[in-house]
Amino acid sequence: MSSRTSSLQFQLNRVPTRLPAPERERLLAKPGFGAIFTEHMVRIRWNAERGWHDAELTAYAPLSLDPGTAVLHYAQAVFEGLKAFRQADGGVAAFRPDAHASRFRRSARRLALPELPEETFLEAIDLLVEADHAWVPSAPDHSLYLRPLMYASEVSLSVHPADDVTFLLIASPSGPYFPRGVKPVTVWLTEDYSRAAPGGTGAAKTGGNYAGGLLAQAQAAEHGCDQVVWLDSFEHRWVEEMGGMNLCFVFGHGDTARVMTPALTGTLLPGITRDSLLTLGRDLGYETEEGRINVDEWRAGCEDGSLTEVFACGTAAVITPVAAVKSARASWTIGNGGPGEVSMRLRQALVEIQRGAASDPHGWLHHARVSFER
Ligand SMILES: *Cc1c(COP(=O)(O)O)cnc(C)c1O
Repeated sequence: MSSRTSSLQFQLNRVPTRLPAPERERLLAKPGFGAIFTEHMVRIRWNAERGWHDAELTAYAPLSLDPGTAVLHYAQAVFEGLKAFRQADGGVAAFRPDAHASRFRRSARRLALPELPEETFLEAIDLLVEADHAWVPSAPDHSLYLRPLMYASEVSLSVHPADDVTFLLIASPSGPYFPRGVKPVTVWLTEDYSRAAPGGTGAAKTGGNYAGGLLAQAQAAEHGCDQVVWLDSFEHRWVEEMGGMNLCFVFGHGDTARVMTPALTGTLLPGITRDSLLTLGRDLGYETEEGRINVDEWRAGCEDGSLTEVFACGTAAVITPVAAVKSARASWTIGNGGPGEVSMRLRQALVEIQRGAASDPHGWLHHARVSFER
């Protein structure tokens, strides 16, 4: 069996026996986030001589890596994170996989990795969702989290863009990222550490950005905060992101509220949730803006009441309200400390589209080729 895009032929090596349904249902009842994986994965190889080749859907299994594999030493790797949702009609749809395919290419380019054609990325997602659609949860706030990744699989300690690269796509049935629901978080403004600098890799989805952020996250926890907020690396004043999520600031109330998110300066990750919420914000009649805000303005806005809500957004956790801010100098609260009205309205609008409970005017859902029982 095989499946073909115009560029690449996929071998379909399905597992001979499936996990019994009661066993699968037991795992799906309490999946956690990114903790369990489905029965298949997609693998595609690339080398300088043959380009992309040996594309296959195969059994999910551990990798065997030579200790000299380049990615283990020099971190030449990129990833994506997107979700497939059980639809109101029982089908399955992935959210904006084309936008993720395009960002995956841009990340690869920045890391000197080969660019996977977007149609191949989409075909990989179709094949895996088709093979493992029984693993797409239907509980509210649950989804099939899809994790495409690419890494330098060349065995070499010499520093150069790898001549041998592997693409993998795995899938993890997941519950809410924050298991206690939409609970506002407290953030730590770090002035000791930076996530990204001009000319660096901040706009690419690459693990090194995360590795470099872990110590700041630990510092946030030491100060009793849930998450770290990244400031610009030069003045340590301009607000960029929160952990692995983009930030949005809401000014004013009700229908006249204005939603502002820091502009993409090259050191921020261009979030697809951020982009979707800017669009939905406009649809809902809010004024939306890509701008900038510094720490003093954040504090002053909360104190004079003009800045009413702050939330973080990303695929994994959707929208996370920010209730309070701490830094080495000051601490303050935002609004009444609960989830804001505009934040929750935006969240609801996005989640309803993702689940097929509302119409999809922007064509964001990519419906899987699965036969399903109603
Ligand atoms: C992935 C990511 C985001 C959010 O992007 P989405 O496309 O909305 O999931 C934001 N910031 C960082 C640093 C990220 O890695």
